[in-house]
Amino acid sequence: MWTKLPGPARVSRRSSPVQLDPTTLIFLNVVNLLAMSLALPLVMGQNLSPAARLARTSLMIKAGIWVALALTSRWAGLWPDRLLSTVALALMGLSNVLIFRALEHWLGPRPMGRLLVALAVLMPLGFALSFDNYPVRVGWFSLLLTGQLLIMSRAVLLPAPDSNSEGGWRFLMLGCLGVMAVLTATRGILGVFNPEISPSFHTPSPLLLITLVATNVTLVLGNIAILAAWREEAQHQLRTLVITDALTGLFNRNGWVEQAKRALRYAQRYGQPLSLLMIDLDHFKRINDTQGHEAGDAALVFFGGLLRRCQRGGDIIARLGGEEFCVLLAHADTEAAQAFDQRLRIELANTVPEALRAALDFSTGHALGSGLDETLESLMARADAALYRAKYAGRSQMVSSERAPMSPVDVAPGTSTT
Ligand code: GH3
Ligand code: MG
Ligand code: MG
Repeated sequence: MWTKLPGPARVSRRSSPVQLDPTTLIFLNVVNLLAMSLALPLVMGQNLSPAARLARTSLMIKAGIWVALALTSRWAGLWPDRLLSTVALALMGLSNVLIFRALEHWLGPRPMGRLLVALAVLMPLGFALSFDNYPVRVGWFSLLLTGQLLIMSRAVLLPAPDSNSEGGWRFLMLGCLGVMAVLTATRGILGVFNPEISPSFHTPSPLLLITLVATNVTLVLGNIAILAAWREEAQHQLRTLVITDALTGLFNRNGWVEQAKRALRYAQRYGQPLSLLMIDLDHFKRINDTQGHEAGDAALVFFGGLLRRCQRGGDIIARLGGEEFCVLLAHADTEAAQAFDQRLRIELANTVPEALRAALDFSTGHALGSGLDETLESLMARADAALYRAKYAGRSQMVSSERAPMSPVDVAPGTSTT
């Protein structure tokens, strides 16, 4: 607490303009946490992702921890102190586990989750059993809490998330966890080897005061990190929506253009063959006309799943619109494209009678990417022209458009060499 002295007469060399005491700091922590856990639901709304819900619950639990710790001062050393402190430590372990789970949602699987849970269980247990022995109990919970904080620090940092993450919030959270780990470990070591420097939770030792101030600051900064992580998650979901076809879950045209252009650039840089297949379902209108639009939708979803099953790592599949799909096969020449088309036809013949009431077939136009001047537009235009030829030739087949020698005409968008 910041206290102003009343007048110059009271000022002496030994007095400090700032007077802090643990009870006030704990009270401030409680007020801050309660205010934050009341404000967060208002800011975040009700439709929260599982990760944001976990992080918010963890914050509310933290408010409970500090309420319990604040109450302990009334019964220092007595059984309610033992009970409340134990409950506070159990909640602390639990809130750390919840944050860890939220991190897993945001960053993917993280190591040492089980150890974190084990520490959360052992921490209050050992504390309650050793309550009457101050050095042992302080050493025990400080050691285990430091372990939890280190596991979480590692989880924030490694393994590094994919490049979609801006990651600024991770370093803020890492800073908060790191500071708390160092202070907790120091308090534990002093509690064990030099208990008179930090005799109890309610005695204003400098280290305890620093720990309480740091707790307050890291709670505020940690909260900012959580809000930033939540914002990044929302952005990521929005981006996924923009590039995903809602019906099949495949890439839509936006996603297709982005991914396919990247794959084409990669293939050109490393001189690898690359095949583009444009696939159109045959007489699809009949399914809608005879069995209804819902059956048509089900057939589109089924075909999307089929493409996914036949896909290899590095291939890109998309629904461009209507009953038209596009596939980009990495490392694939015309022969490999033919093999893919055949695989798809066999898989379709094997599975369609069970999955759908209607017969389903498709035509494929193929274009082989070659040359540094190839663009996605030129490749798609040639595949489209080949698809038109496949339809014209009687459907249910693949027609390949082999590329003529490079000429300036080839690269003009929408130009076909078939
Ligand atoms: P073709 O063999 O020449 O390709 O004949 P087709 O009937 O497949 O092609 P056409 O272009 O005549 O008709 C495509 C149909 O696809 C018309 C449209 O109602 C249907 N369609 C487009 N998008 C959807 C969709 O999202 N759901 C459903 N159920 N049908 C769709
Ligand atoms: Mg069609
Ligand atoms: Mg069509």
